[in-house]
Amino acid sequence: MKEKTAPTHSSRPKVAIIGAGVCGLGVAWRLAQQGCAVTVFERGEVGRGASWAAAGMLAANVESEPGEEALLSLTLEAQRQWPAFAAELEAASGREIGYREDGTLFAAVLQDDVERLRFTYDYQRSLGLDLAWMSGREARAKEPALSPQVSGAVWSPNDHQVDNRFLALALAEAATRAGADIRCGQRVEKVVVEQDHCRGVETTSGFHAADAVLLAAGAWSRDVSGLPENLAPPVRPLKGQALALGMDTQAPLLKSVLWGPRGLYAVPREDGRLIVGATVEEKGWDDALTAGGLMHLLWELWQLLPGTEELPVEETWVGHRPSSRDDAPILGPSGISGLHFATGHHRNGILLAPLTADLVAEGILHDRAPEQIAAFGPDRFAAAPSPVARTAAQ
Ligand SMILES: Cc1cc2nc3c(=O)[nH]c(=O)nc-3n(C[C@H](O)[C@H](O)[C@H](O)COP(=O)(O)OP(=O)(O)OC[C@H]3O[C@@H](n4cnc5c(N)ncnc54)[C@H](O)[C@@H]3O)c2cc1C
Repeated sequence: MKEKTAPTHSSRPKVAIIGAGVCGLGVAWRLAQQGCAVTVFERGEVGRGASWAAAGMLAANVESEPGEEALLSLTLEAQRQWPAFAAELEAASGREIGYREDGTLFAAVLQDDVERLRFTYDYQRSLGLDLAWMSGREARAKEPALSPQVSGAVWSPNDHQVDNRFLALALAEAATRAGADIRCGQRVEKVVVEQDHCRGVETTSGFHAADAVLLAAGAWSRDVSGLPENLAPPVRPLKGQALALGMDTQAPLLKSVLWGPRGLYAVPREDGRLIVGATVEEKGWDDALTAGGLMHLLWELWQLLPGTEELPVEETWVGHRPSSRDDAPILGPSGISGLHFATGHHRNGILLAPLTADLVAEGILHDRAPEQIAAFGPDRFAAAPSPVARTAAQ
């Protein structure tokens, strides 16, 4: 991380971080590198929340949606940073993280789906994104196991992948090597705020004083008590079911990441695992694997990649995305001195990891939001004058 101005803290701040997912760990690593005394409190094990359940796609281009143009500049910037970030992290941790640059193919079979894909493609191209339209034949030339029924596709040369489980472990190792103290099995029960200053955290092992506290508790972020009511981040758990199939490592069915209609994706790992995800369900903390959820994923996958029929199911799981009210992350200082946020990353927490780490750490060192994340601060949810109340008053 490049420091642009001198830190506002007279010495390096002592920082407490709530949550050892990729967000908390990334910031811990960057701050420890800068000489801060960093303690990460994790109620369970390192990287076992959404960071473990994810698929690891770094898909700024194919996932871009209308209305998310501000977020797109952030996700594209994160994507640009990934190659250097991956190399630096692997060197600092001594661990491989499975970063692969094999691109992403979005394929469709039914005419309806092809039309829809074309419509989205036209919008994404209007933003200047580097994407190419392909016929079914061209798509099969790239991925020969695709169904002969595939009749249209979009190729994205810059949407890659990383092994998110390896990523979390590598971040924990790099942070520890840089001097951070990661305390697993210690839950933060309360953020201690006195006279508009954050003083530290109350944990299951007692009070821990800190100059700055980072709330990086993923989908659990709203449950941490002690925050003034208007600062409880509007983050909810968004359920996702996923599974892994086992491919033949000598002849893998797929090289690039594959997307299909209705939210289906398949991510081939170097070790032969094919990650298949994910449902998007508004079911709160429900963690049931359902026949309908798995059937949906397997059916959508089979239509694109019929050879998957023969593959063994190696694992099934459920995770909860930390989704904010506007699906964008909540980053930076909170308005309470010393209290910072890195939460609400929704479907993009792995992709945004390099940027979250650098910019949130910078915000803590200087106690103000770097310009790139100013639009993503918690203050955007502060009560706006209600149009209903305004109309009533007129
Ligand atoms: C099925 C699925 C697929 C996904 N696929 C992708 C993808 O392909 N690409 C992508 O970019 N993103 C993806 N995501 C989203 C991504 O996983 C998240 O945005 C990201 O992992 C969020 O990281 P985090 O560190 O904020 O949260 P988490 O990884 O959930 O970490 C939060 C941590 O805080 C801990 N914690 C909670 N409360 C407390 C407390 N009180 N005290 C101490 N510790 C606490 C938890 O135990 C947890 O370890 C996916 C998510 C899901 C569920």
